[in-house]
Amino acid sequence: MATNSDYFRIVSPTLRVPSNKSISIPVGILACQRDPLLRELETTVIHCMISQAPPAFPNGKQTKNKKVLSPTLPNEPILQVVTHDTCIFPEGGGQPTDTGLIKTADGKLFSVLQAKRHGSHAVHYVQANQSDIDSALLSFTPGSTVVTKLGKDDFDRRYDHMSMHTSQHLLSALLEAKLHLPTLSWSLTSYPSSCYVEVPRVMTAEEIKLIQDEANRLVFEGRAVYTEVEELDENKKAEPATLESGRSVGRGLPTDYTGGIHRVVIIDGVDRNPCCGTHLPSIKNLQLFLLPHTDTMSRSNTSCARLYFLSGPRLITYLTSAHDFLTRAASILSVGNDLVPDRVRQVVEERKKADKRVSELELELAKSISAGLVNESTDDKQLFKRYVHRTNDSSNPLGFLSSIASAFSEQMANFSTPYLLVLTSAPAVQTLSSSSIIMVVGSDDKLVKCAGDALKSQLEVKGGGNGLRWSGKRMGVWKEHKEGGLVDSILKAIQ
Ligand SMILES: [Zn+2]
Repeated sequence: MATNSDYFRIVSPTLRVPSNKSISIPVGILACQRDPLLRELETTVIHCMISQAPPAFPNGKQTKNKKVLSPTLPNEPILQVVTHDTCIFPEGGGQPTDTGLIKTADGKLFSVLQAKRHGSHAVHYVQANQSDIDSALLSFTPGSTVVTKLGKDDFDRRYDHMSMHTSQHLLSALLEAKLHLPTLSWSLTSYPSSCYVEVPRVMTAEEIKLIQDEANRLVFEGRAVYTEVEELDENKKAEPATLESGRSVGRGLPTDYTGGIHRVVIIDGVDRNPCCGTHLPSIKNLQLFLLPHTDTMSRSNTSCARLYFLSGPRLITYLTSAHDFLTRAASILSVGNDLVPDRVRQVVEERKKADKRVSELELELAKSISAGLVNESTDDKQLFKRYVHRTNDSSNPLGFLSSIASAFSEQMANFSTPYLLVLTSAPAVQTLSSSSIIMVVGSDDKLVKCAGDALKSQLEVKGGGNGLRWSGKRMGVWKEHKEGGLVDSILKAIQ
């Protein structure tokens, strides 16, 4: 697929794309900006130097922002290569750098990890083999012919960026025209997450639908996209860019830009927006999906809201994964996809009822176990000691032991018999990473502490407590004839 010849329009009688192969074409009228679908370009090396890559994250930690991160530069020398022209886009206008390839005249293929704008030049950051740096420098001798390329993955990445970037222009234009909502900022997040525009207030569901419908009507028409370039009026350079409608796009030209080109991206009949990004020649494939909510953001003195959107490859990825989630959930629930919400609601309600019933029954059982123990105790001054083990696969075995302990101490309060009770609980199937729960309850805090200390030292139980209760956890398999026997002997030793 080729870009239409009228995509790139020079609107100044004096501006020319430099044809002299010994100078570099300024950012603004590079091949990637004149022809966004170009994947390969033969050109000439102007300049090449070795540079030491800066640390990827100067603060030593990666930013939490979900913005697209440039591919990390290796911690070894890299080559900075300037060519006469390039199909590899250097980052700018909110659009991240391309990745790409350069094939040199001696048949070698080098990876371009990043491309950046230095003043007016696009600089390729080329990966060179450390041991072969001198021969790499020779491959990039000024004046030699090279081919800049976007490989399949490089172009897929760029196509995704272009889809989201052109969609953002369309979305911002419609928000302004239909709802008078200026775009305060936007972010091109990493594939495949949704991107967002920031607007001054939350939008209603009706407003979101209105914008989405209007965008997709224009997409259906397949409105053309093209660019207009002319010499930059230096006096206007520092001003934030505004449209004829007066819309501020929130970002002026970068102050370090020295390329001398003023570039406007136009969506036919919809939008004119100063921008250096690569944009698709038509919006015909950019079905826009707006996530039907806006997130409010609190800032110190302003309020704004984020409207998330998807388009192009990300929209397909989103639909595919959303459909997959739904189908998997439907299969687990054994219902058709459209019945998933109702069935989930039903399952959640049943689960709540079941949980309530389990806790009621556990309480009843705890009281019954406790009553059995109380019956075994004799009403005299002898210390009543018991060890009870439970097999329990519930998610909260400590809760159940605690219920038994509470019921037991409550019932024993009617008697003057001193007591010490050790309760343990382990799952039915145990492995070395299983954990058993231990609870100690007694009529005297010294007895409880004594049992707790012995459990710690003899059974490697990790735990603690104060007063009349102590609880702990032990990793590994709990065997009644072994660990249970040890608890019995601990109790036996306490008088
Ligand atoms: Zn833009």
